[in-house]
Amino acid sequence: MPPLRRGAAERTCTFVAERVAVARLTRDKDSHRGLLFRTLHPGRDVRRRILKDGHYVVLPSKTSVAVSEHPRKLQAITLETTLRCDQSCVFCGSRAGKEARSELSTAEIAHVLEQAGDMGANEVELVGGETYMRDDWVDIIRMATQLGMTCAMVTAGRAIDDRMATMARDAGLDRVSVSIDGTRETHQSLRRTPEGYELGLRAMNAFRNAGVAVGCNTQVNASNWENLNDLAELLLGMGLYAWQIQLMIPMGRAADRPELWLQPYDLLKVIPRLAGVIERCARSRFAVYAGDNVGYFGPHESTLRRFASTHRHTMGCAAGTSVVAVDCEGRVTGCSALDGVCSAAGNVREEGLAAIYERVETPGQVPDSVWGFCATCYYASICRGGCTSTAIALTGRAGNNPYCHHRALELAREGKRERLSALGMRRDGARGHVAFDVVTESVPTAIGSDTESSRPASIS
Ligand code: SF4
Ligand code: SF4
Repeated sequence: MPPLRRGAAERTCTFVAERVAVARLTRDKDSHRGLLFRTLHPGRDVRRRILKDGHYVVLPSKTSVAVSEHPRKLQAITLETTLRCDQSCVFCGSRAGKEARSELSTAEIAHVLEQAGDMGANEVELVGGETYMRDDWVDIIRMATQLGMTCAMVTAGRAIDDRMATMARDAGLDRVSVSIDGTRETHQSLRRTPEGYELGLRAMNAFRNAGVAVGCNTQVNASNWENLNDLAELLLGMGLYAWQIQLMIPMGRAADRPELWLQPYDLLKVIPRLAGVIERCARSRFAVYAGDNVGYFGPHESTLRRFASTHRHTMGCAAGTSVVAVDCEGRVTGCSALDGVCSAAGNVREEGLAAIYERVETPGQVPDSVWGFCATCYYASICRGGCTSTAIALTGRAGNNPYCHHRALELAREGKRERLSALGMRRDGARGHVAFDVVTESVPTAIGSDTESSRPASIS
């Protein structure tokens, strides 16, 4: 490891008084990008030093270290197995439906899994499309488990019956997260599949009867956030291991549906509702996780992260640290929420996963990356603009995220709010994004009626 350059340390370190005492520098590639620290002895006061490669470095008195919860050691991969899907959900961020032009073969997936295992990954999460649309889906589960990896799968479960659930269980599937989006009516309108709601619940029952741990995931948008209480009452009685709730990002097919987009100021009502649901479920010992893009640091933060983080607050975007994603055509990104065409560090068809992993960007670990409102934020040294994928979708680049409760509250105190104004489609990726102008405006006096009328109409 090359010596730490004093200037770089001074520029990149910030102080988190209550959590950090001594930290170890784990990576320094002659630039501040990718500097990661790990807490060694919480509680000791060593503000003026960091432990660097076995040596103490004295820093200016106002400088100390930011701690990362995300050590840069591969622990898990998210594997997009296919874009084939048996539904055509209106908000699908991947625009899944048809098979992609050149999806990874069984042998190529086996090679990816072997490399990930060699790098120390002990978990693989299979996403799609629908993994079970591949003829070799059970073989993929078996390959992962034979390599000693825990295998999980995300599915909407339309075709899953008792026989398929048993096959997955016998191959070693450890757990599954089934997508349910709200009440029956809401789910059906979002999934555009007759009986899609009942079939999702059937899949949950089939996996549970087979002995696979079953969870649920829900994407919150403007059409279903009011369903969360009803959905909680349904899920509470189902014996699930967890429920993950994230915000819908306007990309993929969701980019085509402005009526579903949450406005940044909608978080003023969505986040308290979500916090209430989490508290309700916690009383029944049912773990509900706010997803990475449910932001951040408002009065409900410790409730939102109650089950997700030992710190009970976000530690920023983990993309490219302990997790990488491989898409169905072999592109490697730091997170499956990032568009591989725009963000890939390489392709497993051209070089080894370990070499690509070294180049995968870790935007949530770059201290100077925040800009716009986030650059002025009290929490920026930890949060760094939150979810990279959301920030890119809404503002065009990482480090400035309008989907933030703290931000919406701060603006509301000044009588302001932010509104997404669609400028048109961006065609710079496989999924399709909307180019937005994030408009800061005065809060209309009759905000209840204005909320609907200020939604963007259609875009071209
Ligand atoms: S304003 Fe930005 S940096 Fe601050 S908490 Fe919100 S997303 Fe994070
Ligand atoms: S891009 Fe968003 S979803 Fe992906 S790791 Fe970062 S915070 Fe999590």
